[in-house]
Amino acid sequence: MIVQLDKNISTETIDNLQSKLKGIGYEGNEVKTQFDHYMICIGKKPFDIRSIGCLEGVKDIHKVTDPYKLVSRQWKVKNTLIDLGDDVIIGEGHFEIMAGPCSIESPEQVESVVKHLKANGVNIMRGGVYKPRSSPYSFRGLGIEGLKMFHQICSAHGVKIITEVMMTEQIDAMLPYVDIFQVGARNAQNFNLLDALGKTDKAVMLKRGISGTIDELLYAAEYVFSNGNERILLCERGIRSYETAYRNTMDINAIAMLKEKTHLPVVADPSHGVGVRKFVEPVALASVMAGADAVIMEVHQCPEKAFSDGQQTLDYAQAERTYGKMRGAFALRES
Ligand code: PEP
Ligand code: MN
Repeated sequence: MIVQLDKNISTETIDNLQSKLKGIGYEGNEVKTQFDHYMICIGKKPFDIRSIGCLEGVKDIHKVTDPYKLVSRQWKVKNTLIDLGDDVIIGEGHFEIMAGPCSIESPEQVESVVKHLKANGVNIMRGGVYKPRSSPYSFRGLGIEGLKMFHQICSAHGVKIITEVMMTEQIDAMLPYVDIFQVGARNAQNFNLLDALGKTDKAVMLKRGISGTIDELLYAAEYVFSNGNERILLCERGIRSYETAYRNTMDINAIAMLKEKTHLPVVADPSHGVGVRKFVEPVALASVMAGADAVIMEVHQCPEKAFSDGQQTLDYAQAERTYGKMRGAFALRES
């Protein structure tokens, strides 16, 4: 059960509500976000919802039977929109593309990608400065100085930034330079990181774990929300299966399923999802038709020279064609 509390509810009224909940065998967990104030009530005994709904300080009350609560569609039927400012909005009728290299490499590279994005009406650039690599000998990113450079160029052109944060300790320094924090697949259940991101006001995109279930992804989002941050996006980026013919198995089903289970926007990452350049476009289009609110993809001026993930990265001409087709698919889906 989720109780939405009145804006200026007093601590006395909250205490009173807590004791009423205890009386019916429920534990109340208070959650205050940038948008609202809630009491998440955990318990099993059936009771008349009206006995709580009529109490002082209660704005609204919702029965939620899902194991995750705040991210469930059972209480919030309307889709959540993520507003990044300057008319860049993700969710519900606002299809967005996030594109850019796997890794930020140099100012020249960022300038070149930004020019390409601007020419194609793409508002959000991706690029990692902290790279989780399978081998410690691979390129691991330019770090905070790289992020400052990335931000300087993007902000001069009105382009938003999504980049990965790997550790709680990185958050504060990154905060002024980021529009969306990405939590990578390898950190999908790093609950300390999720708690800490929940205490910020920044948008957070959570990637599905490499072997993560849909429920585990939703629980990860619940961590962020219950810490006070409602600005969450979920990302399907492929899962590990028995198939070895491609990098990951893009779970298109999950996109349709997530759209039903949660009010949060869903992003598709076909680049990591399939991991093979020539299949990125068809997988992206399938993702859009399945309901994705945004697509994130790897794009580089010269994919063969990319510091990381070149094999799944599109060049500018391929990317341009894919943007056009995705926008066409979105229009078809919405018609
Ligand atoms: C990335 O976006 O470059 C990345 C490392 O993604 P993932 O965490 O999905 O592997
Ligand atoms: Mn990558």
